[in-house]
Amino acid sequence: MDALLDGLNAAQHRAVTSPASVLQVLAPPGSGKTKTLTARVAYHLLEHKYRPWDLVVCTFTIKAAREMRDRICGLVGEKTAAKLVLGTFHSVARRYLVSYGQHIGIAKNFGIADSADSIAIIKRIVKRRNYGVDPKGARARISGMKAKNIKSGQTNPKGVDQQEFAAVYEEYEETLKSSNLLDYDDLLLRCVDLLIEYPQCVNNVEVVLIDEFQDTNNVQYKLMGLLAQRHNRITIVGDPDQSIYGFRSAEIKNLNQMQAQWHDTIVINLEENYRSSGAILASAMTVIEQDKARPQKRLLATHSVGEMPVFRKLPTAMDEAKWLVAEIKRVHILTGRLLTYNDFAVLLRSAALSNSIERELGRAGIPYRMVGGHRFFDRVEVKIILDYLRVINHPDHNDAVLRTINTPSRKVGEETCKKLLAEAEEKKTSLWRLALGSAQGTSKPRTAISKPAQKGIESFVNIILTSQKRLDGLENQDGGLFDLMVHLLKKLSFEEYLKKQYPETEEFGSRWDNVQELMTLATGMSMDDAVNDNEALPVIDAAEQRERSQAADALTTFLSNVALSTEVEKSEGEATPQVTISTIHGAKGLEWPVVFIPAAYKGSIPHSRAEDHDEERRLLYVGMTRAQALLYISCPMRSSQYQDTELSPFLDSTDNMARQGPPITFTATQGFARVLRRACPAEQTLHQAQTEVDRLEDDAYPLDGESCNPEGSYWVGDRNANASDFSRREKVDDDHGFKG
Ligand code: ATP
Ligand code: MG
Repeated sequence: MDALLDGLNAAQHRAVTSPASVLQVLAPPGSGKTKTLTARVAYHLLEHKYRPWDLVVCTFTIKAAREMRDRICGLVGEKTAAKLVLGTFHSVARRYLVSYGQHIGIAKNFGIADSADSIAIIKRIVKRRNYGVDPKGARARISGMKAKNIKSGQTNPKGVDQQEFAAVYEEYEETLKSSNLLDYDDLLLRCVDLLIEYPQCVNNVEVVLIDEFQDTNNVQYKLMGLLAQRHNRITIVGDPDQSIYGFRSAEIKNLNQMQAQWHDTIVINLEENYRSSGAILASAMTVIEQDKARPQKRLLATHSVGEMPVFRKLPTAMDEAKWLVAEIKRVHILTGRLLTYNDFAVLLRSAALSNSIERELGRAGIPYRMVGGHRFFDRVEVKIILDYLRVINHPDHNDAVLRTINTPSRKVGEETCKKLLAEAEEKKTSLWRLALGSAQGTSKPRTAISKPAQKGIESFVNIILTSQKRLDGLENQDGGLFDLMVHLLKKLSFEEYLKKQYPETEEFGSRWDNVQELMTLATGMSMDDAVNDNEALPVIDAAEQRERSQAADALTTFLSNVALSTEVEKSEGEATPQVTISTIHGAKGLEWPVVFIPAAYKGSIPHSRAEDHDEERRLLYVGMTRAQALLYISCPMRSSQYQDTELSPFLDSTDNMARQGPPITFTATQGFARVLRRACPAEQTLHQAQTEVDRLEDDAYPLDGESCNPEGSYWVGDRNANASDFSRREKVDDDHGFKG
């Protein structure tokens, strides 16, 4: 217990040990909210002797959940930590639905429609009905309705547009139902339904704990209350200044509502920041304090001032990417490689901005991982295999069948597929059932099928059926999923298929590597969670639980994790350190020693389509407060679309402040050990490092030349300067700031 409470400050200690039933810990970034929440979970286990599966802990991202489990692991041991019901709201809801969903008519092997699936379904509906509705927009609208708990049939349409939308919404819901799919919103909504109707599902829940509460939406708020309905013990931590999900109907007002709903709510504030240097904090504060409506709050730095944030203007987005990558390299070397690439993050307002940075990192041979995009799982070769796994797991998934039935080609033409699908929809059955009937000769579809296509369908059905058998036959064996994948790849002749598609050796190699990586991921990711699923929740009616093999459960879990992961860490735990590229949204709650925020121009942040500029400001604030020791903000004077840019208005005041500081030298870093613990190289190392930097620069240091700002690390001269001001070719020396 001492180990648990050691190192907490007084307010944190109070929050961890508070006897309050309903507790709100409201505090600024880096003040230890997540640390406190984690310690409170451990405190509940050790002090109150709650069983781990009686605590429900909701985090905002899968990555955060994993980190929290790791931290708790260190406090209470691996076995106990593994049994916590801990995950994102969506994954917690999914687990309840898997265990008890049958009571409200949800089959245990339901599939999850990810956003691509949802849009594909809507597209088909719109096309068939010949509506002018935009599918993407309609999906967002449906999602908005669901977040507000407005079901189809309750929309009260007025005018043609609304009527069309209402019809699409209704048919979309029917399609999901008939293919046994739940979309992201349904996971939450149906879980709410379940817990209202069957409160006994959460009889065991002692405490519900929520991180990043400021971003919970209406439905999540409701779910929180329902999960805690037995004992009404809730702890939330959050920060209204970091509320950045307005577009997802997150509602700040939940904080007040909570206090109104539970009158005994105790609020504890934390005021000390343990994450960032004084300079970074001061700079972030100048941004958030532009919001005049915001209540004044104290935020005390516990670290020394450290290095001033670097603000940098560059001529073009390409120059910016080059500079950024060169700077990563330089800092990496200057710190004597005591900082690994894991310690660097590039945070973007929108994922679309990552192209040039990815390219430059690739060129420089610096490994990186993408967070917040769907990069890995979106790769063609990975998607194909995932779709096969979806069909194997859940053959009624029409979209997955559509995407796989003729890949690799089996001469089942698009027209045939379309007709079969229409027939299936009309008969209220699935494409798979039609195909199965046709292949096995048990029921002939009305749709005319050519001989070669018939053969193709038979071959497809055979692959799926044998794969299913393979999966089910491997009960209680580790690696059931792995074996399934081996079988599947062989049946598909997938290696040959890829070779044909990508004759270039290198391209084929990297794609085949991705397939291998997927296999590793599938076996690693699913096994852990499958165990959790089975142990964490008590069964209310064992007789009703359909028998499923452990391997089949593992497959379901794996696919749900894929569908639910907004951030995809292809190489979590991989030995090679990697620079992180993430959206700011995806970086919530996380921290890195060195953070870059490029593209800080008007139109990017605040985003041109954003209506709420206060929220955009908070977003920048969240980004800046991820940095521990070094913060770089940069702005190209011409965007990647070759348009002249204007500096983000949020940075006006920070700009002036940063000018006063000296360029980064790293000599000051030595007094900065608490933040940059591993990055305090001795003079000796620095000297060696500089020699290496010099060598690099002589070689091919990308900054050497016109793309460089000769005046140092700060915004250059006149903010209205244009790209041609940079066209002088000058030797850069002082710019690197090292005074060896
Ligand atoms: P955010 O709002 O960004 O989610 P947070 O309030 O959740 O931030 P944490 O991530 O819990 O903050 O903590 C930030 C950093 O400060 C972590 O590295 C954590 O280990 C450290 N920290 C928190 N409290 C203390 C403490 N009392 N002593 C030393 N380090 C601490
Ligand atoms: Mg946190």
